[in-house]
Amino acid sequence: MPLQPLRPLQLRHWSHAALHLAEFATHIPADCSDEVERLSCAARELEESGYERRAEECAIRARRLLEAEHVSLPPVLYLPQVDGGVVSISGPSQGELASWRYNKTPALGDSDISGVLGPEAASEADRVMAALCAVRSRPARRGRAREAAHPLRAGDRAQRDHLEGLLQRGLADRLGRQLHGYEERIYVQLVGRGLDAGGLRVCEQCLLVFEAPRAAACAACRRSPVRPKYPEHLRPVLPDRAAGVRTSVRVVGNRVVGSISRTRSTRQLRYIGTCQCGREFVAEDASRKHCRKCGSGRGRTARHREERASETASETQ
Ligand SMILES: [Zn+2]
Ligand SMILES: [Zn+2]
Repeated sequence: MPLQPLRPLQLRHWSHAALHLAEFATHIPADCSDEVERLSCAARELEESGYERRAEECAIRARRLLEAEHVSLPPVLYLPQVDGGVVSISGPSQGELASWRYNKTPALGDSDISGVLGPEAASEADRVMAALCAVRSRPARRGRAREAAHPLRAGDRAQRDHLEGLLQRGLADRLGRQLHGYEERIYVQLVGRGLDAGGLRVCEQCLLVFEAPRAAACAACRRSPVRPKYPEHLRPVLPDRAAGVRTSVRVVGNRVVGSISRTRSTRQLRYIGTCQCGREFVAEDASRKHCRKCGSGRGRTARHREERASETASETQ
């Protein structure tokens, strides 16, 4: 059977297609899950001994504890990848939500919201965080409401509207610019909830905010697509076209705070391969077959000797 050419690795770990398959979950801290486990065990034991009322009380306490923890943390979003894996994208912080809403990049720290943007911004960030914790799935599809999203997980209409307004306003503020740092995560978190972006989109390749209802990439990226080669033994890694460094200096109370946020990846097309020695290597051209060690002069001689030795061995058999 011929080998299937490997698809390029997703540089950004998300695409609009993958966001349709997003799942949400909350990491429960260890001390909380230990306590829930203890209460559940106690409930089982009490029930077996015939103390049904006390067993019920324990079970209720365990459930309340779990629910309280569950809604106090923004859920982590899980996205399926082309290679069959799953990538988790953590929920934004309060400072990031406020920075998205008031168009600040790099993001503010949680404790700086009030100082920089005022108390109104801080309480707005609280409301947004509560909505983000409550809305943890895509909305029910029309006509298939019964089998689709759980009403509790989809949040109520007001919470969804609130988040939708946040998404649309944030994108409108950044139209024609590339998202940077935390902004990308906020976009992914909100669009993963099936919220309407109001005709604006973020390019999957360069993170430019542009006007289109469905396109995956902006006009510039579509005009000059990256064309990787697909040799059998190498997997292409697409270049990162996102914006470079962005810096800001702000006055917070009586401090001056400077922050820098950088691009995460290189602008060159590269390939990842596995050498015959088992080592993984990164190459800039698609013709390379060996890691640096095996590809060097000494490595070539050793390989040649090995091949000759195995040929002689098979001849003598
Ligand atoms: Zn683009
Ligand atoms: Zn090697």
